[in-house]
Amino acid sequence: MVRRAASAGLAVVALTDHETDAGVAEAAAALPAGLSLVPGAEISCAQHVHLLAYLYNPAEPALAAELARLRTSRDGRGRRMVIQLQAMGVPVEWGAVQAIARGAPVGRPHVAAALVDTGAASYAEAFSDRWLGYGGPAYVGKPSFDPAHVVALVRAAGGVAICAHPGGRKGTSDDTLSRMAGAGLQALEVDHPEHDASTRRRLRSLAADLGLFATGGSDYHGTRKDVSLGSETTDPEVYAALVSAATGSAPFTR
Ligand SMILES: [Zn+2]
Repeated sequence: MVRRAASAGLAVVALTDHETDAGVAEAAAALPAGLSLVPGAEISCAQHVHLLAYLYNPAEPALAAELARLRTSRDGRGRRMVIQLQAMGVPVEWGAVQAIARGAPVGRPHVAAALVDTGAASYAEAFSDRWLGYGGPAYVGKPSFDPAHVVALVRAAGGVAICAHPGGRKGTSDDTLSRMAGAGLQALEVDHPEHDASTRRRLRSLAADLGLFATGGSDYHGTRKDVSLGSETTDPEVYAALVSAATGSAPFTR
């Protein structure tokens, strides 16, 4: 990932896997000269909120415990999706899902890939309401942690808290965003591939109203999503302000 970021001409890249920063050490060790790495995680919260947590202290116990709880419940969720698929007559095995996830917290993309491997559905069909899509027979919801509570935990761990893609398919309500702002949220991810021009304008003015920064990110997901690394970026001045606000850890550089 960091080699791809350097080839894309980026000066800074953030690594934010869901519910884990387990890849950070490997990425830091492989960091090309001239590229800075911001460690972090993307945390699933209630109301479909995804919270980007950057530069927190990974040893801070309250946040670490919350992340561990989320990872454990993700495995339970993955197992329940497999059981639902088996009940639908699909020969999916939990072991196959784990092999695809290769030690990462299990998410729907891993279950979907195992479903595709059985030949029962294409990857796009797997995410429809015929299978694992929201409302589909094999869909299982994620556990709910109140987004404002998670913002407070990230800040207490010295981290930077940013609401990811608030105008995406399952948008975040202005009420929720203002509650998160009250708990210490620092920015909205305004520039995101799922946001059209009018959504960006609306979110930029909402961020200003709430006293928050506006950031950008490509939400690059490897080959599983059709976006290119670095297609959306964060203003260097905003980046510097967020880094100086963080007390939990610092970006890696070489
Ligand atoms: Zn997300």
